[in-house]
Amino acid sequence: MSHDPVFVMHDVTKVYRTGGAEVWALRGVSAELAAGEVVVMLGPSGSGKSTLLNIMGGLDRVSGGRVSFQGKDLTDASDRDLTLYRRNHVGFVFQFYNLVPSLTARENVALVTEIARNPMTPSEALELVGLTARQDHFPAQLSGGEQQRVAIARAIAKQPEVLLCDEPTGALDSGTGIMVLEALTTINRTLGTTTAIITHNAGIQAIAHRVFQFVDGRIESTHGNETRLAPSQVTW
Ligand code: ADP
Repeated sequence: MSHDPVFVMHDVTKVYRTGGAEVWALRGVSAELAAGEVVVMLGPSGSGKSTLLNIMGGLDRVSGGRVSFQGKDLTDASDRDLTLYRRNHVGFVFQFYNLVPSLTARENVALVTEIARNPMTPSEALELVGLTARQDHFPAQLSGGEQQRVAIARAIAKQPEVLLCDEPTGALDSGTGIMVLEALTTINRTLGTTTAIITHNAGIQAIAHRVFQFVDGRIESTHGNETRLAPSQVTW
């Protein structure tokens, strides 16, 4: 892990306006993520975690404050620049896997490698998540945890600098969830991918370099783990 910040967020606010009502999803968030860092984001539902992750991923825009990625300002980026930013630099993993049911694991990953600038092969990406033996299986022939690992392989096959995960184990039991966390930590260790993971499962914070605790649109506290646990040691 290097100490160069990949993300710098300064006093970020986000206000949603729906039908005359204002919802303050973020009320002034300042934080940095270092290159190669694994950050776990904890906090109650509605505390702003997904909103911040979406802003970091160029899926949404701030209402106030600034966000930069590798020294480049995302706040004033054009829609086209944000599209290129997402395509070239960011991998996303969500709670539900969104695989194409009629394509094999390898073909699902190939959808991304065919349009990426500097991809690994689908086989290399599937090997990193421990699915070499399942490459030619269709999603319906895979467990939930295996499908999520295909989704992770698809997200990292383009070799993004950043992997943003919103409840990646939210639909999984402890055994398969731990294998998904193993895949995320292997990728972080092997490729140096800066990784942010939103979770409701407080036990998962033990695998992070740092933990951000969200409360009511703010990061209430952060702490580092001097000793990180391996995913297999996580109390689920
Ligand atoms: P978390 O990820 O911590 O559960 P969110 O970031 O999803 O929290 O939501 C923060 C707040 O913003 C919530 O009150 C939520 O209802 C509101 N919110 C999120 N997205 C939208 C949206 N597109 N339109 C209106 N309100 C939203």
